[in-house]
Parts: sequence; C-alpha cells; structure tokens
Amino acid sequence: MKARVMAGAVALAVAASALAACGNDEKEAAEARLAKARAAKAAWDAKVAAASKVEANEAGDVPVLMYHRIVDHPGVPEDRSPARFRADLERLAREGYVPVTAAEYVSGRIAIPAGTHPVVLTFDDSSASQLELDRNGVPGKDSAAGIIRSVAAAHPGFRPVATYFVTRDMFQLDDKAEQRKALEWLGRNGFEIGNHTKDHLDLGHRSKGQVTEQVAAGQALITGLGAPTPTTLALPYGNEPKKERWADHGTAAKTSYDYAGVFLAGYTPSPSPFARRFDPLAIPRIRAGGTKGDCAAFCSTGWLDNLKQHPADRYTSDGDPTTVTVPAHKVEELSKAYRAKALTYKTS
Ligand SMILES: [Zn+2]
Repeated sequence: MKARVMAGAVALAVAASALAACGNDEKEAAEARLAKARAAKAAWDAKVAAASKVEANEAGDVPVLMYHRIVDHPGVPEDRSPARFRADLERLAREGYVPVTAAEYVSGRIAIPAGTHPVVLTFDDSSASQLELDRNGVPGKDSAAGIIRSVAAAHPGFRPVATYFVTRDMFQLDDKAEQRKALEWLGRNGFEIGNHTKDHLDLGHRSKGQVTEQVAAGQALITGLGAPTPTTLALPYGNEPKKERWADHGTAAKTSYDYAGVFLAGYTPSPSPFARRFDPLAIPRIRAGGTKGDCAAFCSTGWLDNLKQHPADRYTSDGDPTTVTVPAHKVEELSKAYRAKALTYKTS
C-alpha cells in the first residue's frame, strides 16, 4: 500500500512539472495536429477532385474474358484466330482497359492508372496454342502469350498479364520437365496459373468425393510442377457442383484447397469485387467472340460495345489501390465492408 501511494505521488509530481514546463509545447502540439488534419483534408479533397475528373466508379462491372485455343483456322466457336485475338487486345488497349489477373481481381488488388478499366484475360484448357515456347524459351509469336506481349509492347500501359486455367493436358507437352518450364515461364512473367481441375469432367452431377478429388488433383498437378498454390479455379464447362462450396473448399489425397475465386463460363460482365452483388464462388465470364448468331447477345464484342455505350456501368479506377471510389449515388452498390470508408463524389 505504501509503495502504491508513493508511486502515485511521484507520477503526479512528474505530470505537474510537465504541465508547468510545457504550456508552449502543448500549444505547438495542438497547432501541429491542426496542420496535419488540414493537410489530410486537402489530400482527401484532391483525391475527390481527381476521382471526379476521371469519373471513377469502383463499383462498376469488369469484363472477365474467356478464351480457349488461338488457332489459324478456328473449328469451334470457342476458338479465336491470332489476328482476331490481336484485334481484341488492340481494341481493349484503345478503349482504356488494363489487364489484371483473376487473383488480383477477386482480391481487389486492382492497381491501374486513374481513368482506366480493369479487364481479366483468362485462358482455359492449357492448349499448346496459348504458349508454344521455342527452344530459347520464347513464346510463339502467334500464341496467346506472344500476342499479349507484342500488343503490350506497342501500347505502353497495357499490362501483359493473363490467367491460365490449366488441366492435366498441360500445353500438350508430354515431358514433365517441359511442363515445368512452361509454368515457370508463366509465373516469372507475371501470368497467373489457376486450376481447371485435373480431368475436365463435368462436375454438375458428381458426388462431393468426386468433385473434391478432381479439384485437389488439379491443384496437386500444378504445385507438383513447382508452381505456387493456385488461388483461383475455373469450373469445366462452367458447371457448378450440387453445392458450390464443394468446388471452393475441400481436401482429397492430402491436398487441401481454399479458393479466393471460382469462375463460371457465361455470360455477362462480372461485378466489381467491392460490389454487394459480387459472389466469389460464382463469377461469370464472357466468351470471346464476335456478333454472329447467338454470340451477338453474350460474347465479348457485344458486351464491350455495351459497356462503351454505358460507361457509368463500367469499373473505372481512381488510380489508388488503397481507396475504393464511387459516385455518391452509387455508394449503396458497394458491399458493407467498403461502404463506410469509400471515397465518394457528387456528379453533376
Ligand atoms: Zn475448359
């Protein structure tokens, strides 16, 4: 007891002498706090002005494009010729789109310049035409990777990144060392490797055991070739299992998986990862294609036309990956987690 009284007396004496000595210091501290608050407000106001100028809308839709083979003579509607693929990318570059990977999109790590729009380029089934490394480890000039890099070189700011959803048919390479080299090249060059399951079975009518086995085996295939554990999955044929959680989370043959995003195959632009509508377990994609037949309504040309005609519906970046910015009247479109701290601006 005596010790506590003594300690209290000492603390009071110290505080009193501090108060007596520091009248001016306190005033200075208060002034410094005020100056800091003013600077923070000025920085915030500048951000609002910049966001308003580019009409940032980070609650808007993102086109996630789905490609398959890039071949000279497309045989099925899923195929795209090298010339058409190049034209697709040139259009995206011209219209201010910047590629981000599927993993960046689902996690909201969308670090692109103010006023630009994210686009996700995805490639399914790991066909040879998507990479085609030559003996020197350079992608074929008419392969998907070769064309992406060539368009990026001609359009500064167009990031040469994409997501490859792979199966056991790994770029039609028989040799494990060659498969390893392919995945290594993709990883080293900023491309993401996602899981498309091992055998590409339709999981729509399978048991939980079969679904889990296919997803886990696909993941084990990827990590067994030295690539990082994938964080995104694309369902074969876009078909969801009876319970969507089975695809996202599970364990089989000592491999556990837990995906940040599960992608489907159709047929609309995808919600912003900050939007209330965003469901990471069922992310739509848009098939790459023109405007012939049934493609007119749901393939990439039509949807990109649509987003161009309705720019307010499209995701437009504020240029700062640490803030989520929306026009004030769209704040309700954000999920709860982002609504309170969102940067908003009034539109005229
Ligand atoms: Zn597929």
